[in-house]
Amino acid sequence: MKLLIIEDERKIADNLKKGLEELHYRVDLAHDGNTGLEMASNGNYQLVILDRMLPGLDGLGVLEQLRRGGHRTPVILLTALDRINDRVNGLQAGADDYLTKPFAFAELSARVEAILRRSSLSVAQDVRHVDDLTVIYSSQSVQRQGQTIELTQKEFRILCLLVENPGRLVTRKDLVQKVWGLTFETETNVIDVTVRRLRQKVDDPFPVKLIRTVRGAGYILESNNKP
Ligand code: CA
Repeated sequence: MKLLIIEDERKIADNLKKGLEELHYRVDLAHDGNTGLEMASNGNYQLVILDRMLPGLDGLGVLEQLRRGGHRTPVILLTALDRINDRVNGLQAGADDYLTKPFAFAELSARVEAILRRSSLSVAQDVRHVDDLTVIYSSQSVQRQGQTIELTQKEFRILCLLVENPGRLVTRKDLVQKVWGLTFETETNVIDVTVRRLRQKVDDPFPVKLIRTVRGAGYILESNNKP
């Protein structure tokens, strides 16, 4: 889940970035309107947090040009407390929500989540945790104990199936059908090879092993904190 913050006050921008990253969002920053518009137009963001007052092209200008360019990315506009017109103009120009400065981070993060939920991809669906393992779907990234683990497409999809069924058997048949799109009669040695590589990355470097083999049947992701 990738967000863009367009905000010229560095301290606010840095604090928002830090807070949102702790919630497992990926966050980019722009400090002026033109750079922000350029990034928002090309960066494939799920949401933009846009300050109203910016050097160069201001927030309303960014919003208007973004919408004129056909971009429907949700935008939260940050406005000054006493400027009702800004909020009205902002909503008319295509903002999805606004916050007046100063605001509490908790309120911003709640609005971010609400908007992303409305646009059908919430953080809850996007990020899964099993013990110290984290899977983030939108960026296809995996972390264990905070370390990023690089997986191939197939390895990632196997891990997703296991993470979605913690403590339950995922059969070899499931894996063949859902990861390879094949019928079970097909040669299945490829499962063993791929799972072995997955384990080398996800389990071998760590003392606690998560993937358990059920001989002849499939695999179970061991979990102490089932969601
Ligand atoms: Ca500003």
